[in-house]
Amino acid sequence: MTELNSLRPGRAWRNWGRSEAARPAFTATPTSVDGVVAIVRRARDRGLAIKTIGAGHSFSAVAVASGIQLDVSRLEGIVDVNLAAGRVTFGAGTRLHRFPALLGPLGLALENMGDIDRQTIAGATSTGTHGTGATFGGLATRVVAVTMVTAEATILRISETENAELLPAARLGLGALGIIVDLTVQCVPSFLLAAVERPASFDDVLDDFEALATGADHFEFYWWPHTDGVMTKTNSRLPTDAERHPIGALAGWFEDRVLSNIALAAMCNIGRLVPAATPPLNRFATRAYGNRTYTDNSHDVFVSARTTRFREMEYAIPRAAVPQALRDVRDLIDGTGWRISFPIEVRVAASDDTWLSTANGRDTGYIAVHRYFRDDHEDYFLAVEQIMRSHQGRPHWGKIHYQDSESLAALYPHHGDFVAVRDRLDPDRVFTNPYLYRVLGP
Ligand SMILES: Cc1cc2nc3c(=O)[nH]c(=O)nc-3n(C[C@H](O)[C@H](O)[C@H](O)COP(=O)(O)OP(=O)(O)OC[C@H]3O[C@@H](n4cnc5c(N)ncnc54)[C@H](O)[C@@H]3O)c2cc1C
Repeated sequence: MTELNSLRPGRAWRNWGRSEAARPAFTATPTSVDGVVAIVRRARDRGLAIKTIGAGHSFSAVAVASGIQLDVSRLEGIVDVNLAAGRVTFGAGTRLHRFPALLGPLGLALENMGDIDRQTIAGATSTGTHGTGATFGGLATRVVAVTMVTAEATILRISETENAELLPAARLGLGALGIIVDLTVQCVPSFLLAAVERPASFDDVLDDFEALATGADHFEFYWWPHTDGVMTKTNSRLPTDAERHPIGALAGWFEDRVLSNIALAAMCNIGRLVPAATPPLNRFATRAYGNRTYTDNSHDVFVSARTTRFREMEYAIPRAAVPQALRDVRDLIDGTGWRISFPIEVRVAASDDTWLSTANGRDTGYIAVHRYFRDDHEDYFLAVEQIMRSHQGRPHWGKIHYQDSESLAALYPHHGDFVAVRDRLDPDRVFTNPYLYRVLGP
């Protein structure tokens, strides 16, 4: 264990989307909070920056380490439970896919989730990971307390009653404020989701977007470029004793594993060789996907397997702007002649008060564009970003974007407040990296 609590020579590291790579000077995998404290002391002695990493699922360079790459995967599992309040404290490195096994026996669940469950809880909340639902916020909005090791190698507790003024910053801190060792999540009683997946027309869904987005617990849709069709997904919350109608194991394997991953990879590879094949393949996809209903445990409905690697940019814009923004993206794709083999995902979230949340202060719609990881994403993402910026778009912190601290300060009313907390907690920039320099300043 001592070995793990000390510094080891760094190794080559790549993120999931293969958009970032690093070779940190050292890595450390502390097994205890004391181990984290010891590593911060050592980093300070040697003048090395520390970057904490979760599961490496950010597409942006937010998790890139050059000095010490600190892996908190050994700080894992439940640390404390307040069953009466439905609040559970998790080790920072707990992966989301462990949550059903950890929370299920307590009769609890996460209120809302994104598309996958490979991330760590601290990594997911630190970048503003979200799912969909007009009355639901992202994962960070459910964080009610954080324990972090500061740049001074001290332990700082932040909650509604301890250093409460720091909570709106610490819930979603980009790893810039300290090393989170545990965080407390407000959970909800376990529930089921009834999922309805249906094809629909692009224009119909955009014309009715406000009603669709606000008329269901969790509404989202995927649009395949070069087609007039979308796949809608509407999830309704049901009590846990409602009847389950899960997808059969074979059908689930075929639809989620074969269609959503293997066939998608094949389509992307064919599209790379023969770009003209992409529009007909996308039209085929709109017919093959998305016509089913099922009811299952919330985690199993929220989350899917994603094995086909891609890169992603996602923008948060005012919800009311989504129809126009997506039509602008369609005009862009049609006008340039690009062949885009990956669907565009549209989701929503409620306004919240977390300072760097993409939904801070406004009901939000999300438009996410993707490219197969072997395709060049840059021209497409840059052009879509221009459209999103014309709608006051805020980029997802964990996904590719090209904005900097100056432009972001104009988009976030509390950007300056966050930087002031960073100045207070990490004046010597022990926890910085080039990405944080870009989005928060030196
Ligand atoms: C296939 C795929 C699907 C995705 N789906 C969604 C989705 O549906 N919705 C969505 O919003 N996002 C989604 N994302 C983005 C993803 O949720 C975020 O990028 C998330 O941050 C990744 O978590 P991670 O554990 O891999 O963190 P990393 O990427 O490793 O780190 C992210 C940030 O968290 C910081 N951090 C990690 N641990 C700590 C700690 N203990 N203390 C302080 N800082 C810490 C790091 O320093 C870094 O700044 C998806 C990504 C992929 C690859």
